[in-house]
Amino acid sequence: AKKDVKGFFLRNAFVIFTIAAVIIGIILGFALRPYNMSYREVKFFSFPGELLMRMLQMLVLPLLVSSLITGMAALDSRASGKMGMRAVGYYTITTIIAVFIGIVMVLIIHPGKGSKDEFTKQQQIEQVSPADAFLDLIRNMFPPNLVEACTKQFKTQYAKRVVYVKMMVNDTIFTLNGSQEITREEMIPVPGTVNGINALGLVVFSMCFGLIIGNMREQGQPLKDFFDCLNEAIMRLVAIIMWYAPIGILFLIAGKIVEMEDITAMGGQLGMYTVTVICGLLIHAIIVLPTLYFIITRKNPFVFIAGLLQALITALGTSSSSATLPITFKCLEENNKVDKRVTRFVLPVGATINMDGTALYEALAAIFIAQVNNYDLNFGQILTISITATAASIGAAGIPQAGLVTMVIVLTSVGLPTDDITLIIAVDWFLDRLRTTTNVLGDSIGAGIVEHLSRHELQNKDLEEGNSVVEE
Ligand code: ASP
Repeated sequence: AKKDVKGFFLRNAFVIFTIAAVIIGIILGFALRPYNMSYREVKFFSFPGELLMRMLQMLVLPLLVSSLITGMAALDSRASGKMGMRAVGYYTITTIIAVFIGIVMVLIIHPGKGSKDEFTKQQQIEQVSPADAFLDLIRNMFPPNLVEACTKQFKTQYAKRVVYVKMMVNDTIFTLNGSQEITREEMIPVPGTVNGINALGLVVFSMCFGLIIGNMREQGQPLKDFFDCLNEAIMRLVAIIMWYAPIGILFLIAGKIVEMEDITAMGGQLGMYTVTVICGLLIHAIIVLPTLYFIITRKNPFVFIAGLLQALITALGTSSSSATLPITFKCLEENNKVDKRVTRFVLPVGATINMDGTALYEALAAIFIAQVNNYDLNFGQILTISITATAASIGAAGIPQAGLVTMVIVLTSVGLPTDDITLIIAVDWFLDRLRTTTNVLGDSIGAGIVEHLSRHELQNKDLEEGNSVVEE
């Protein structure tokens, strides 16, 4: 029996450490709150967490590019076409369901009752036309400079403005010289925030590039080997970082709890709003996605989810689905044994464009803002919100609070005041973590479903190549 316990512990060491880290992080965070640490002290304290963020982000770029290129090159164009259709079908259906849940929840619970005077208004935000935002989304798919795409996140005009405002709200974090017309250089960025990459552009490029390499057959082989090898090397680095992850998560969570604003301030409309978002996300994550998985694969969804625990907790700790990507890969491939040809292809795309949690949140938040403004939305406007929320979730980067930024599109589309985004900033750090976890879960379940649906093509490919078993 002793051996069993030891064996169980060894097999589940990562998950046990990670869960322990969350618990200790929460306890430590609340224990330190009474000391009213200064901003500087909090940053020192959460330094180990910041390091985890940086390590994960460090791997995202090579991982995203190498996995997509090898994933595409490993399939012939017919197989990848079919798999792509299935993935896109899954993304579309689940995102629509998520938006629907968000809308139904906010209409039923109606958290925006009362008056807007309960809120303190903070900043003006510029209006943006949805058409511009939409064009920005497409522009980002084709980065004119690939090197720049690897280093810059906010390529959009409209996004910058809101990010500035958000930074101004937490004015302890940024020195802004009191002026609104600031440049990026004038800001002191929050340590630990992601200076992301233009993932969408890189995804488009890598997919096309991989497809071409695959079609080149022998001639393409050296490049294929190169990216295969790069991918393998990065995954080995991920394996090392996973040992550090629990420590990082502990400090990320503890640090956030120490610095968060008074929770009692969350009463009233904002509290109800928070509860509404939580309920919506839970319904999607615990009922809808698992049911879908079960209906399609006939396998136990909760066993699948248990294999993902570490990725889900990392998402909770980092509030970034792209920083979580390396861990998601590991969990899916090693714990859940999802075929690598599927994960390499489906996961990076999912992490970039499939954000169920964000879509649900954006629709819900926009209607909440309408409610506090006593603005009656008609059916057409709600439909517009659902369409723009879907687009906004596709456009949102997998970095902390990106969803808040792209919400400008949703609000503008129905003429709601965009500066009211500041009303919900106070709770966004928390809701962001929950929606990021939902996003990661959606991508992972998607990989499981696409693998199941593509099993025949994968088997045929194995036969063709003379592999007796599915590649491990
Ligand atoms: N933080 C989220 C993510 O990385 C995006 C969002 O802000 O909704 O998935």
